[in-house]
Amino acid sequence: MVRRPSASQSLLLGEGYRYFDGGIYAKWPPLFPTLLAALHVVGLEPVAGARFLNAFAFGMIVYVSGRLFLRCTTSVAFALPGVLSIILSAPLVAVSIMVWSEPVFAALAALFTLAMPGFLRTQSRTSLVSISLLAALACLRRYAGVTLIPDCWLYIHEPCVKMGRIQVFNNWSPYLVRDETKVWVGLEYFCTEGDQLWNMSDRDFAEMAIEEMARIGFIDRADVLDSTVIRMPKAYPAYTGTYKSLDRIRDHTDRFENLFLIGQNGMHRYNNADHSMLSAMAAVDNIIHGVRSKDNIWAVNAEEEYHEAASQMPDQE
Ligand SMILES: Cc1cc2nc3c(=O)[nH]c(=O)nc-3n(C[C@H](O)[C@H](O)[C@H](O)COP(=O)(O)OP(=O)(O)OC[C@H]3O[C@@H](n4cnc5c(N)ncnc54)[C@H](O)[C@@H]3O)c2cc1C
Repeated sequence: MVRRPSASQSLLLGEGYRYFDGGIYAKWPPLFPTLLAALHVVGLEPVAGARFLNAFAFGMIVYVSGRLFLRCTTSVAFALPGVLSIILSAPLVAVSIMVWSEPVFAALAALFTLAMPGFLRTQSRTSLVSISLLAALACLRRYAGVTLIPDCWLYIHEPCVKMGRIQVFNNWSPYLVRDETKVWVGLEYFCTEGDQLWNMSDRDFAEMAIEEMARIGFIDRADVLDSTVIRMPKAYPAYTGTYKSLDRIRDHTDRFENLFLIGQNGMHRYNNADHSMLSAMAAVDNIIHGVRSKDNIWAVNAEEEYHEAASQMPDQE
């Protein structure tokens, strides 16, 4: 919440888009702090400016949605409840009374929706400029700039590439990257020790990955600053071979009272991070309360469907 006001203060001091701690305001689009700085010039300090902007945006949303309801229903009797539902919308009211920039985006999006049919009807240059301007301002308000994708990761299903998942480490935490103006992207390729992907040289692998990213339109290859390749053997516990006999190992290890098999490799189970932590918490509980059975640990993540499916799989070598 303090990011945008602090970026606007920094703009006013002539120091560019920066957070209160001096870090570069890179993750968020620049429109909101720019508007706050502009309002400061006319006498409104940033928090008051944000309130003014949001009150204005709220009014605009109500007005434009009224026009849209009227356009769709052509009857005030039907449009009125629609407008009331916007005015009483708890999420909209909540973001509007805070120093958040969503109302400005929503107002711009509503204006865009109002103006679009006009452009489609007239196809005039003026209406094209209007909707382009509204769309551009909306983009400058939400997730433009160096933010590649707003999510932490994205599964890739394009058949023309081999990559399985893209991660944007900047979005996990700004503390993972030294320079927030650069994007740290991780690509995951699923392979097995000794297969063709695994045996590629680091250079060829990086070259392939960069080419794939450019091919799906994710990056411009000229923007790549550096790359590294890490191979992780046995990254996933595989439910193959003698997996069906895992219970025999469990029966054996469970006999050691002070041995607790937990986590992904400890249990040889396709656990997610939360399952791994839950198994550790169950083990700690057992130790504290002197419980000798390990059943509650093995019960973590045992209800998933894919475990049942796995038990029906034929043995594979
Ligand atoms: C490619 C991949 C993608 C994944 N994606 C997700 C995901 O999207 N979401 C999710 O929730 N989970 C995901 N997981 C699963 C998640 O990472 C694991 O469930 C979790 O990290 C397991 O935690 P753990 O504590 O059991 O083991 P680990 O996190 O593997 O920790 C074990 C630690 O023990 C250390 N160690 C090993 N041997 C020794 C030794 N002899 N002496 C000292 N230290 C040792 C290792 O270096 C390691 O740091 C993914 C896993 C992989 C491999």
